[in-house]
Amino acid sequence: MDFDDDANLDLSKVEDGRGGGGGFGGGPMVVGGGALGLIVTVVLALLGYNTLGSDSSTSPAPSSSANLAQECAKTNQDRFELVQCRQVAVFDDLRDYWGTDGAPALNAKYSDPTLRFFTQGVNTACGQATSAVGPFYCPGDQRIYIDLGFYDELAQRFGAPGEFAQAYVLAHEFGHHVQYLTGFEGEIRKLQQQNPSKENQYSIALELQADCYAGVWTANATGGAQSLVEGVSQEDIKSALGAAGAVGDDRIQEQSGGQVNPETWTHGSAAQREQWFDVGRNSGDPQSCNTLKRA
Ligand SMILES: [Zn+2]
Repeated sequence: MDFDDDANLDLSKVEDGRGGGGGFGGGPMVVGGGALGLIVTVVLALLGYNTLGSDSSTSPAPSSSANLAQECAKTNQDRFELVQCRQVAVFDDLRDYWGTDGAPALNAKYSDPTLRFFTQGVNTACGQATSAVGPFYCPGDQRIYIDLGFYDELAQRFGAPGEFAQAYVLAHEFGHHVQYLTGFEGEIRKLQQQNPSKENQYSIALELQADCYAGVWTANATGGAQSLVEGVSQEDIKSALGAAGAVGDDRIQEQSGGQVNPETWTHGSAAQREQWFDVGRNSGDPQSCNTLKRA
Protein backbone atom coordinates (compact mmCIF):
# COMPACT_ATOMS: atom_id res chain seq x y z
CA MET A 1 0.00 0.00 0.00
CA ASP A 2 1.10 3.55 -0.65
CA PHE A 3 0.88 6.54 1.64
CA ASP A 4 0.98 10.25 0.94
CA ASP A 5 4.57 11.24 1.74
CA ASP A 6 3.58 14.87 2.28
CA ALA A 7 0.78 14.15 4.72
CA ASN A 8 0.87 15.61 8.19
CA LEU A 9 -0.28 12.86 10.53
CA ASP A 10 -2.80 13.93 13.15
CA LEU A 11 -1.77 12.51 16.52
CA SER A 12 -4.47 14.24 18.53
CA LYS A 13 -6.45 11.00 18.93
CA VAL A 14 -3.46 8.72 19.44
CA GLU A 15 -2.01 7.77 22.81
CA ASP A 16 1.42 6.23 22.87
CA GLY A 17 1.57 3.91 25.85
CA ARG A 18 4.34 1.76 24.44
CA GLY A 19 6.68 0.82 27.25
CA GLY A 20 4.36 2.44 29.78
CA GLY A 21 2.84 -0.75 31.10
CA GLY A 22 -0.66 -1.09 32.43
CA GLY A 23 -0.51 -0.41 36.14
CA PHE A 24 2.28 2.07 36.06
CA GLY A 25 0.10 5.00 36.95
CA GLY A 26 1.51 8.35 37.92
CA GLY A 27 5.12 7.68 37.09
CA PRO A 28 7.20 9.54 34.59
CA MET A 29 7.26 8.43 31.01
CA VAL A 30 10.71 7.98 29.66
CA VAL A 31 10.99 9.82 26.41
CA GLY A 32 14.10 9.74 24.35
CA GLY A 33 15.94 7.83 21.74
CA GLY A 34 19.08 5.79 21.89
CA ALA A 35 19.91 2.47 23.45
CA LEU A 36 19.75 3.71 27.03
CA GLY A 37 16.31 5.17 26.57
CA LEU A 38 15.17 1.89 25.13
CA ILE A 39 16.51 -0.16 28.01
CA VAL A 40 14.96 2.11 30.63
CA THR A 41 11.68 1.94 28.84
CA VAL A 42 11.80 -1.83 28.86
CA VAL A 43 12.51 -1.91 32.60
CA LEU A 44 9.57 0.40 33.25
CA ALA A 45 7.41 -1.83 31.13
CA LEU A 46 8.38 -4.82 33.24
CA LEU A 47 7.58 -2.94 36.45
CA GLY A 48 4.28 -1.92 34.97
CA TYR A 49 3.53 -5.48 34.03
CA ASN A 50 4.29 -6.74 37.51
CA THR A 51 1.84 -4.36 39.08
CA LEU A 52 -0.81 -5.04 36.51
CA GLY A 53 -2.69 -7.46 38.72
CA SER A 54 -2.88 -5.10 41.67
CA ASP A 55 -5.03 -2.05 41.89
CA SER A 56 -2.07 0.15 42.71
CA SER A 57 -3.33 3.25 41.04
CA THR A 58 -6.54 4.65 39.74
CA SER A 59 -4.89 7.28 37.63
CA PRO A 60 -4.55 6.49 33.95
CA ALA A 61 -1.27 5.19 32.65
CA PRO A 62 0.98 7.92 31.37
CA SER A 63 0.95 8.51 27.71
CA SER A 64 3.09 10.64 25.57
CA SER A 65 3.04 11.11 21.88
CA ALA A 66 6.39 12.87 21.83
CA ASN A 67 8.24 9.84 20.48
CA LEU A 68 5.53 9.12 18.00
CA ALA A 69 5.50 12.70 16.77
CA GLN A 70 9.21 12.45 16.12
CA GLU A 71 9.07 9.05 14.50
CA CYS A 72 6.17 9.94 12.24
CA ALA A 73 7.17 13.50 11.36
CA LYS A 74 7.20 14.42 7.69
CA THR A 75 10.94 15.02 8.00
CA ASN A 76 11.49 11.33 8.62
CA GLN A 77 11.48 10.08 5.06
CA ASP A 78 11.36 6.47 6.16
CA ARG A 79 8.42 6.93 8.49
CA PHE A 80 6.12 4.62 6.58
CA GLU A 81 8.61 1.84 7.05
CA LEU A 82 7.50 1.97 10.68
CA VAL A 83 4.39 0.01 11.63
CA GLN A 84 3.28 2.64 14.16
CA CYS A 85 3.33 5.43 11.56
CA ARG A 86 1.45 3.30 9.04
CA GLN A 87 -1.13 2.55 11.72
CA VAL A 88 -1.56 6.24 12.53
CA ALA A 89 -1.98 7.03 8.83
CA VAL A 90 -4.59 4.28 8.46
CA PHE A 91 -6.30 5.45 11.65
CA ASP A 92 -6.53 9.03 10.40
CA ASP A 93 -7.84 7.79 7.07
CA LEU A 94 -10.48 5.73 8.90
CA ARG A 95 -11.52 8.81 10.91
CA ASP A 96 -11.82 10.78 7.70
CA TYR A 97 -13.95 8.16 5.94
CA TRP A 98 -16.28 7.30 8.84
CA GLY A 99 -16.63 10.92 9.95
CA THR A 100 -17.38 12.28 6.50
CA ASP A 101 -19.27 9.53 4.68
CA GLY A 102 -19.55 6.27 6.63
CA ALA A 103 -21.38 7.35 9.77
CA PRO A 104 -23.81 9.65 7.91
CA ALA A 105 -24.65 6.74 5.58
CA LEU A 106 -25.71 4.81 8.69
CA ASN A 107 -27.54 7.81 10.19
CA ALA A 108 -25.12 7.69 13.11
CA LYS A 109 -23.72 10.68 14.94
CA TYR A 110 -19.96 10.50 14.57
CA SER A 111 -17.31 10.96 17.21
CA ASP A 112 -13.68 9.84 17.03
CA PRO A 113 -12.34 6.88 18.95
CA THR A 114 -8.88 7.06 20.48
CA LEU A 115 -6.08 4.76 19.36
CA ARG A 116 -3.86 3.61 22.17
CA PHE A 117 -0.63 1.69 21.64
CA PHE A 118 0.48 -0.33 24.62
CA THR A 119 3.05 -2.90 25.57
CA GLN A 120 2.35 -6.05 27.57
CA GLY A 121 -0.55 -4.85 29.68
CA VAL A 122 -3.02 -2.01 29.98
CA ASN A 123 -5.82 -0.75 32.21
CA THR A 124 -9.04 0.02 30.38
CA ALA A 125 -12.64 0.88 31.20
CA CYS A 126 -13.32 -2.74 30.20
CA GLY A 127 -10.83 -4.04 32.78
CA GLN A 128 -7.20 -4.96 32.68
CA ALA A 129 -5.83 -6.65 29.61
CA THR A 130 -2.59 -8.21 28.51
CA SER A 131 -1.22 -8.35 24.99
CA ALA A 132 -2.30 -11.98 24.80
CA VAL A 133 -5.86 -10.92 24.03
CA GLY A 134 -4.76 -9.26 20.79
CA PRO A 135 -6.00 -5.89 19.51
CA PHE A 136 -9.38 -4.90 20.93
CA TYR A 137 -11.92 -2.11 21.22
CA CYS A 138 -13.43 -1.01 24.53
CA PRO A 139 -16.84 0.70 24.20
CA GLY A 140 -16.57 1.96 27.79
CA ASP A 141 -13.76 4.37 26.93
CA GLN A 142 -14.08 4.31 23.16
CA ARG A 143 -10.49 3.29 22.69
CA ILE A 144 -8.81 0.88 20.31
CA TYR A 145 -5.97 -0.91 22.11
CA ILE A 146 -3.10 -2.39 20.13
CA ASP A 147 0.20 -3.92 21.17
CA LEU A 148 2.13 -3.61 17.92
CA GLY A 149 3.90 -6.88 18.74
CA PHE A 150 0.68 -8.57 17.63
CA TYR A 151 1.63 -7.91 14.03
CA ASP A 152 4.72 -10.08 14.37
CA GLU A 153 2.48 -12.82 15.64
CA LEU A 154 0.03 -12.26 12.81
CA ALA A 155 2.83 -12.67 10.30
CA GLN A 156 4.68 -15.53 11.94
CA ARG A 157 2.16 -17.59 13.87
CA PHE A 158 -0.91 -16.91 11.76
CA GLY A 159 0.93 -16.69 8.45
CA ALA A 160 -0.65 -13.38 7.48
CA PRO A 161 2.12 -10.92 6.70
CA GLY A 162 1.81 -7.69 4.78
CA GLU A 163 1.16 -4.08 5.55
CA PHE A 164 -2.44 -4.25 4.52
CA ALA A 165 -3.10 -7.13 6.89
CA GLN A 166 -2.21 -4.66 9.64
CA ALA A 167 -4.51 -2.06 8.13
CA TYR A 168 -7.32 -4.61 8.06
CA VAL A 169 -6.92 -5.38 11.78
CA LEU A 170 -7.14 -1.69 12.69
CA ALA A 171 -10.08 -1.16 10.32
CA HIS A 172 -11.87 -4.11 11.98
CA GLU A 173 -11.39 -2.60 15.45
CA PHE A 174 -12.53 0.76 14.14
CA GLY A 175 -15.60 -1.08 12.86
CA HIS A 176 -16.41 -1.99 16.46
CA HIS A 177 -16.36 1.71 17.29
CA VAL A 178 -18.80 2.34 14.46
CA GLN A 179 -21.03 -0.36 15.98
CA TYR A 180 -20.89 1.53 19.25
CA LEU A 181 -21.95 4.72 17.44
CA THR A 182 -24.86 3.05 15.63
CA GLY A 183 -26.03 1.23 18.74
CA PHE A 184 -25.59 -2.17 17.07
CA GLU A 185 -23.16 -3.25 19.74
CA GLY A 186 -25.71 -2.48 22.47
CA GLU A 187 -28.43 -4.20 20.48
CA ILE A 188 -26.35 -7.38 20.21
CA ARG A 189 -25.55 -7.38 23.94
CA LYS A 190 -29.26 -7.11 24.70
CA LEU A 191 -30.11 -9.94 22.31
CA GLN A 192 -27.43 -12.08 23.92
CA GLN A 193 -28.95 -11.55 27.34
CA GLN A 194 -32.43 -12.32 26.12
CA ASN A 195 -31.34 -15.40 24.27
CA PRO A 196 -28.25 -16.97 25.86
CA SER A 197 -28.35 -20.09 23.68
CA LYS A 198 -27.65 -17.88 20.67
CA GLU A 199 -24.89 -15.90 22.35
CA ASN A 200 -22.17 -17.09 19.98
CA GLN A 201 -24.31 -16.56 16.92
CA TYR A 202 -24.85 -12.94 17.90
CA SER A 203 -21.18 -12.50 18.63
CA ILE A 204 -20.38 -13.78 15.15
CA ALA A 205 -22.85 -11.31 13.60
CA LEU A 206 -21.06 -8.51 15.47
CA GLU A 207 -17.60 -9.64 14.35
CA LEU A 208 -18.56 -10.24 10.74
CA GLN A 209 -20.06 -6.77 10.53
CA ALA A 210 -16.75 -5.33 11.76
CA ASP A 211 -15.04 -7.30 8.97
CA CYS A 212 -17.56 -5.93 6.49
CA TYR A 213 -16.90 -2.38 7.71
CA ALA A 214 -13.17 -2.99 7.21
CA GLY A 215 -13.99 -3.92 3.62
CA VAL A 216 -16.14 -0.79 3.21
CA TRP A 217 -13.27 1.40 4.35
CA THR A 218 -10.91 -0.44 1.99
CA ALA A 219 -13.18 0.46 -0.92
CA ASN A 220 -13.13 4.11 0.16
CA ALA A 221 -9.58 4.34 1.51
CA THR A 222 -8.08 6.18 -1.38
CA GLY A 223 -10.91 8.71 -1.64
CA GLY A 224 -11.77 11.55 0.71
CA ALA A 225 -10.34 14.96 1.34
CA GLN A 226 -7.23 13.83 3.21
CA SER A 227 -6.48 10.69 1.25
CA LEU A 228 -3.58 9.50 3.38
CA VAL A 229 -3.72 6.17 1.63
CA GLU A 230 -2.83 6.62 -2.00
CA GLY A 231 -2.95 3.13 -3.33
CA VAL A 232 -4.43 -0.26 -2.50
CA SER A 233 -3.22 -3.05 -4.75
CA GLN A 234 -4.58 -6.51 -5.49
CA GLU A 235 -1.70 -7.80 -3.41
CA ASP A 236 -2.98 -5.70 -0.49
CA ILE A 237 -6.46 -7.16 -0.82
CA LYS A 238 -4.96 -10.65 -0.73
CA SER A 239 -3.02 -9.67 2.38
CA ALA A 240 -6.19 -8.43 4.10
CA LEU A 241 -8.17 -11.51 3.11
CA GLY A 242 -5.31 -13.65 4.34
CA ALA A 243 -5.51 -11.96 7.73
CA ALA A 244 -9.30 -12.18 7.86
CA GLY A 245 -9.05 -15.89 7.15
CA ALA A 246 -6.12 -16.48 9.46
CA VAL A 247 -8.07 -15.16 12.45
CA GLY A 248 -11.17 -17.18 11.58
CA ASP A 249 -12.30 -19.40 14.44
CA ASP A 250 -11.74 -22.65 12.52
CA ARG A 251 -8.17 -21.68 11.64
CA ILE A 252 -7.39 -20.64 15.19
CA GLN A 253 -8.80 -23.90 16.51
CA GLU A 254 -6.73 -25.85 13.98
CA GLN A 255 -3.70 -23.76 14.77
CA SER A 256 -3.91 -24.45 18.48
CA GLY A 257 -4.20 -28.15 17.77
CA GLY A 258 -7.78 -28.42 18.90
CA GLN A 259 -10.87 -29.79 17.24
CA VAL A 260 -12.77 -27.51 14.93
CA ASN A 261 -16.06 -26.96 16.70
CA PRO A 262 -18.44 -24.37 15.22
CA GLU A 263 -20.53 -24.34 18.41
CA THR A 264 -17.77 -22.49 20.20
CA TRP A 265 -17.10 -19.94 17.47
CA THR A 266 -17.38 -16.31 18.38
CA HIS A 267 -15.92 -14.57 15.32
CA GLY A 268 -16.90 -16.69 12.34
CA SER A 269 -15.03 -19.08 10.07
CA ALA A 270 -12.23 -18.07 7.72
CA ALA A 271 -14.62 -18.32 4.79
CA GLN A 272 -17.27 -16.19 6.50
CA ARG A 273 -14.77 -13.51 7.49
CA GLU A 274 -13.32 -13.30 4.00
CA GLN A 275 -16.81 -13.27 2.54
CA TRP A 276 -18.00 -10.35 4.66
CA PHE A 277 -14.83 -8.36 4.07
CA ASP A 278 -15.61 -8.79 0.38
CA VAL A 279 -19.27 -7.77 0.77
CA GLY A 280 -18.09 -4.46 2.22
CA ARG A 281 -15.31 -4.00 -0.29
CA ASN A 282 -17.51 -4.72 -3.29
CA SER A 283 -20.35 -2.45 -2.20
CA GLY A 284 -18.32 0.30 -0.54
CA ASP A 285 -21.55 0.94 1.39
CA PRO A 286 -21.84 0.27 5.12
CA GLN A 287 -25.56 -0.38 4.71
CA SER A 288 -24.63 -3.63 2.96
CA CYS A 289 -23.22 -5.00 6.23
CA ASN A 290 -26.43 -6.38 7.68
CA THR A 291 -24.94 -9.53 9.16
CA LEU A 292 -27.77 -10.01 11.65
CA LYS A 293 -30.33 -10.45 8.91
CA ARG A 294 -28.21 -13.07 7.22
CA ALA A 295 -26.91 -14.77 10.38
ZN1 LIG B 1 -13.63 -7.98 16.56
